[in-house]
Formats: sequence, structure tokens, C-alpha cells
Amino acid sequence: MNKTLNIAVLPGDGIGTEITAQAVRVLRRLSEQGHFSLTLQEAPVGGAGYRASGHPLPESTLKLAKDANAILFGAVGDFSLDTLPRELRPEQAILGLRKELQLFANLRPAMIYPELAGASTLKPEVVSGLDIMIIRELTGDIYFGKPRGVRVLENGEREGFDTMVYRESEIVRIGHVAFQAAQKRNRRVCSVDKANVLETTQLWRDVMTELGKQYPDVELSHMYVDNAAMQLLKNPKQFDVMVTGNMFGDILSDEASMLTGSIGMLPSASLDANNKGLYEPIHGSAPDIAGKNLANPLATMLSAAMMLRYSFGLAQAADAIEAAVRKTLAAGYATGDIYREGCKRVGTVEMGDAVLAALG
Ligand code: NAD
Repeated sequence: MNKTLNIAVLPGDGIGTEITAQAVRVLRRLSEQGHFSLTLQEAPVGGAGYRASGHPLPESTLKLAKDANAILFGAVGDFSLDTLPRELRPEQAILGLRKELQLFANLRPAMIYPELAGASTLKPEVVSGLDIMIIRELTGDIYFGKPRGVRVLENGEREGFDTMVYRESEIVRIGHVAFQAAQKRNRRVCSVDKANVLETTQLWRDVMTELGKQYPDVELSHMYVDNAAMQLLKNPKQFDVMVTGNMFGDILSDEASMLTGSIGMLPSASLDANNKGLYEPIHGSAPDIAGKNLANPLATMLSAAMMLRYSFGLAQAADAIEAAVRKTLAAGYATGDIYREGCKRVGTVEMGDAVLAALG
């Protein structure tokens, strides 16, 4: 019997509704083709959540997200709400979901499709064939450590302080995610730290080294974060899986995604300990192009592919989406963000049509 996938769809703001609609079409088509059965339930989040019920993460939306097996998320952000108190701004919804659902592992692939190698700011020979998976710990580190604050010293000068902290168990659980992801790829993990300066990351290195012994089939290396930032630009293809803490991962994953030069192409997953996940494109709500049928829906479709692979173990269905995206790009379809000379310029919906046609 077919697996039933119970998915919460949270389109959010701006282009969020347009791009999730196309990803939902893809999921429905795979369902019609017999890969799985689908239960989709949609709810407002971000600015849409605030407008519907006065909070960016309404109770009913949170409940839906908790009850679902996985979440397909569009994007949040609405400049007209930026004057609200911080806790009511649209972006708080994503932080709230990460915290409430304990989504501690952020997976961000950075890969280049052959047709788009010219879109990178780096030379095509440096990036063509690039396929890296950055795994960032998402719920710990200096972003959450206490104490933190700004205090006034005896001489009247202000001093800001934060606490970098990681428990061994937090390092172990993200480590397992990285080693297991590498087992499905090219079996190499590079753990990124600053063990030469920071005690917390010396512990990080020690724990990763101990954990690595449980995965003799995966080659583990270590790199200091400053060198990692440099190596990503110099020779990014040396990496398979990179794993690192919250702050270093924040910076390195953005750097890596920009190697590909195409913000509309990159998916992401944020997973809990049971592989329940929230799947979203890495870009925001793009208010400048919202409602104009200009947004590239491919990152959201590829996020849906990650969902099928990581939360539902449906590798074949995930492969089908990724193959359809490759075929669509190879056929020359392009939204404005990835347009090159000689391409067929299409809008959001037409890109959806092309991927559906490629899915068969
Ligand atoms: P953005 O990612 O929304 O847009 C940056 C640029 O990329 C814009 O020119 C936009 O038109 C373009 N772009 C983004 N996605 C695209 C797509 N799919 N197809 C074609 N072009 C695309 O970043 P921003 O403009 O800095 O932020 C806009 C809003 O999004 C802000 O409110 C911000 O806080 C929010 N944001 C949300 C998330 C999220 O929901 N996870 C992430 C980043 C930013």
C-alpha cells in the first residue's frame, strides 16, 4: 500500500504563495503517478499569519505544523510590517517553528547545474560540477547561549557579551546527521571549527573525532573556519559534506550558496531527531517581484524533493523531481533570475508547466 504523506503547506508572504503552489503541483503529479498518497493542509504564516490572527506563527498554524509529518514552507517577510515589535515581525515565525519543532539540523546543498555554471561569480572551471552539502547545527551555539546582554561597567562604558556553548549531546546528534548524509553521498565529512582558539570548538573537534570511529566508511577531516571560508572560494569541489556549528554554519552556508550564483535554485531542509523536517527555499519573500509571475519556483520544488528523500525515505520520487528539473533546465527554460542568451524566458507558472511535462 502507498505511504500517505501528511504535509503542512505554509506559503507565507510575497512570492511564497506563488512558488509553493508550483511545488504542490509537482507533489500532486507524483501522487497521481502512484508514488504516494497525499494529505495537504495549508495555513498562514509570517505576515500572512499576523494579518489573519495577530501573530506571525498563529496557534492553529503551529498545531498543524506539529501534527504534520513534514512542512513545506515558502518564505516570510513583509517590509510593511517591519515597524512592528520584533516578536511580531514575520521572520519570527521561522525562528518559532525551529524552536517549537526542535529542528536542530539544517541541510543546505549547494550544487551547480551545468547550464548555470556561468551564473556564478567564480570561474566556470572552479564551480562546474560543484555538489556540496553544508550541515549547520541550528538550535545551539552563541546564538542561544546564556548569559548574554549589554552591561554598563564601573567606568560607565558599555560592554556587550554572548556565550558560545555546546553540550556533547548536541555535537553528537548533528555529527550523526553529517556522517549519515555522507554515507548517501561521497563518504567524506569535513568538520569545521576554530579549535585553535575556542574551547567550545575544541570539544566539537574531539567529539567529532570520537564519533567518526563509528563510521569507518566515512573519511573525516577537520578545518578551521577561516581556512574553510577561503577554501570554499579557492577550491570548493574538494568538499562533500561540511558540518559545523550554528554561527560558522550561518556564514559558510550563505557563502557556499552564492558560489552557485542562483538564489532561486537552492533548497534547504531543517530536521529534528526523527527526520521530521521543514523544507524551504533559501531565499526570502522577494517583495520586489511578488505577484508578477516572475519568481523561480525550482528551489521550492527541490525542497519538496529533499522532503521526499529525508523525511519520507522516497528516494525514487525525489530523484524524479530532480531529474525533471535538470531536464527542464537542459531544455532551456529559464525564469528571469537564471536567464541566459538563447533561453526560453518563462514565468513561475510556465516553469511549473515545464517541470510537470518533464515529470511525464
Ligand atoms: P530575498 O531572498 O527575498 O530577495 C533577494 C533578491 O533575490 C531579490 O532581488 C529577489 O527578487 C531575488 N529573488 C529571491 N528569490 C527569488 C526567486 N525565487 N526567483 C527569482 N528571484 C528571486 O531577500 P531580501 O530582499 O533581502 O528579503 C525580502 C524579505 O524576505 C525580507 O522581509 C526578509 O526578512 C525575508 N527573508 C525571509 C527568509 C525566509 O523566509 N526564510 C529568508 C531570507 C529573507
